[in-house]
Amino acid sequence: MDLSKRKLVKIIILSSLFIVSKFNFLLAASKKMINPNLSKKQKDIMFNEGTERAFTSSLLNENRKGTYHCANCGNLLFNSTAKFNSGTGWPSFTEAVPGAFKTKIDYSFGMKRIEYHCANCGVHHGHVFADGPSKTGKRFCNNGLCLIFKPSN
Ligand SMILES: [Zn+2]
Repeated sequence: MDLSKRKLVKIIILSSLFIVSKFNFLLAASKKMINPNLSKKQKDIMFNEGTERAFTSSLLNENRKGTYHCANCGNLLFNSTAKFNSGTGWPSFTEAVPGAFKTKIDYSFGMKRIEYHCANCGVHHGHVFADGPSKTGKRFCNNGLCLIFKPSN
């Protein structure tokens, strides 16, 4: 490789790194901390795309009628009618309330997955898969720590 080609490759690498870091920055900047009482684990999931350990959520056995909201901003995300037992160890839903989330493609861990974020405050909630049991065909796999359940009465 001659010197000018090498220089060109270097420029391409540097500019793509710049674009990637800029993109991450924009994404991070679009997340708003609204609830000042979030735990360290909740913040790790919501702001750093973390995942809670499987089968640890108290919401796994929550079968009452009601609604599920974002633990950071209170945005309505799911109705209890969409909840089902997926056996995966995370609260699972066949559909979200329209407009509740924004999605993004996540390439971490060598997989291509669709990650979703609260459309209101921007924090990470989970991933959506195309193997759901109902006619929507969707399975929203949500971290329980990101949700607040409000029973209807
Ligand atoms: Zn939110």
